[in-house]
Amino acid sequence: MSEPKPEAIQFRNVEFLTSAPTLAECPPDEGAEVAFAGRSNAGKSSAINALTGSNKLARTSKTPGRTQLINFFRIRDNLRLVDLPGYGYAKVARSMKDEWQRHLAFYLEQRQCLRGLILLMDIRHPLKEFDLHMITWAATAGLPIHLLLTKADKLKQGPANNTRFAVEKALKEKGLNTGVTVQTFSSTKRTGLDKLERKLVDWLAPRETQAQRDS
Ligand code: GDP
Repeated sequence: MSEPKPEAIQFRNVEFLTSAPTLAECPPDEGAEVAFAGRSNAGKSSAINALTGSNKLARTSKTPGRTQLINFFRIRDNLRLVDLPGYGYAKVARSMKDEWQRHLAFYLEQRQCLRGLILLMDIRHPLKEFDLHMITWAATAGLPIHLLLTKADKLKQGPANNTRFAVEKALKEKGLNTGVTVQTFSSTKRTGLDKLERKLVDWLAPRETQAQRDS
């Protein structure tokens, strides 16, 4: 069977696949997937809605009992989007938070088919402790990371761009800028959606085989 062309990747037909509480329960580690992460309220559900044109998917991730799970969405064939547990749901016990982080770390470190991480940060509150953890993890694992500065419509274009530059500068100063790209994004205005789609296609393109990633 010939491989479908990368540009034929369609985010409109994405459907819920499964939820997994641990790495062991994730779907088979094959094909390619991109994970979305962010502190709760960063705008992750809204971004997934804007991308897929479906309210249903991200709502699934927010169903009580699912917020702490790794939620998998099937794009096509062996291509998946992964909604990682939101971080910062305040009222869970410390031990439970540690437990999630352990599963999250496990997933990020061990998942072979993971091509990249989309990290969402509210443009008005970028680079919080959790974000820096994730960026450091990704850097250590050699995993490409794309930062979405969400709710960019809350700022004028000048200040929004300045925030992007400031984030890039801060990462450079910390030595965390390798493999990291940054863009402004607004689900409400749908700005930056094309750029996000290009990044996802870039990462998910079937021609990018595991062998290439490992080399
Ligand atoms: P999640 O917890 O990361 O999934 O965040 P949500 O997608 O549920 O968004 C959290 C809040 O931010 C909600 O009140 C959204 O309406 C709001 N929000 C999300 N994206 C945008 C955006 O692009 N612009 C604006 N102005 N608000 C947004």
